[in-house]
Amino acid sequence: MKYILIWVAILLLSVIAIPLCYNALFTGNGDMDDGSKIHSTIDVYFASEDKVKSMDTDEYILGVIAAEMPASFEIEALKAQAVAARTYTIEKVLSGSDKSHENGADICTDYTHCQAYITIDEAKKKWGKNASSLLKKCKKAVSDTQNIVALYDSEPIKAVFHAYSPGRTEDATDVWGGSVSYLKSVESPGDLKVPDYASEVRVPLDEFKEKLRKEYNVDFSEKILGKSAKTQGGAVETIEIGNRRLKGTDIRKLFNLKSACFEAVPCEEYILFKVRGYGHGVGMSQYGANYYAKEGYTYDEILKKYYTGIELGYLSDIKE
Ligand SMILES: [Zn+2]
Repeated sequence: MKYILIWVAILLLSVIAIPLCYNALFTGNGDMDDGSKIHSTIDVYFASEDKVKSMDTDEYILGVIAAEMPASFEIEALKAQAVAARTYTIEKVLSGSDKSHENGADICTDYTHCQAYITIDEAKKKWGKNASSLLKKCKKAVSDTQNIVALYDSEPIKAVFHAYSPGRTEDATDVWGGSVSYLKSVESPGDLKVPDYASEVRVPLDEFKEKLRKEYNVDFSEKILGKSAKTQGGAVETIEIGNRRLKGTDIRKLFNLKSACFEAVPCEEYILFKVRGYGHGVGMSQYGANYYAKEGYTYDEILKKYYTGIELGYLSDIKE
């Protein structure tokens, strides 16, 4: 009987002790707190299903990378994207800046509003025969940067990004107004090497005038096109069209141009838009990040190229 009791005691002890040891050895960071328990889940609004789902934050970040950046990109570029996506998400969670999610979600899957997102199954379909290796690579980008965010003054930054700039990124002030210390215009040399760097859009003259009359009440009796003013990044800040001076970003939207860095050339029957770059041009250039990665830069160096004066830190470093 005595032996049985001793064995039971040993058994009980090991049941309790083994998981404790395991936790201490493998999951805990001892005294170092990297914030792994902070915001480990978030509420994501799935626009297409009109549903809010509570998700593991890293699983969400993985889906954002898969949707937002070609998985064939260099691992350091994917890591930079992981940190940008995580930071963008946490900034939204903390600032509650996005009141437009009336359903109480932290973030949504509409790329025109927040960040694009696809499920693992959708990503696998997109990647085809390379699915398993690309998934592994994206997972590595998330796990290697776990709990790491980009901080300015100990606060997570608005880590906006775009496909590629015309060779220089935009100052946020020129695109959205309001000065943001870390969203300045910087050089992005890799963007000049993107195969689709330049694009053209031809808009028949009638359609051009009609759209502008309808949208901005433009009168064309005096002239069609006049002078334009440029932003620091080289995009059109404003342009004279007919009797109006309009914003480059509005013209981009109206004629579905890849960026606001365009030249409008009047031709006989149409207006030719010669466009450079792709996206709003603010923050990190994704193709530019891949170029830097190929040149041997690490993800933190890449992020610091695009977000002026930032530091990288853990979620636990965020100022309350
Ligand atoms: Zn949203």
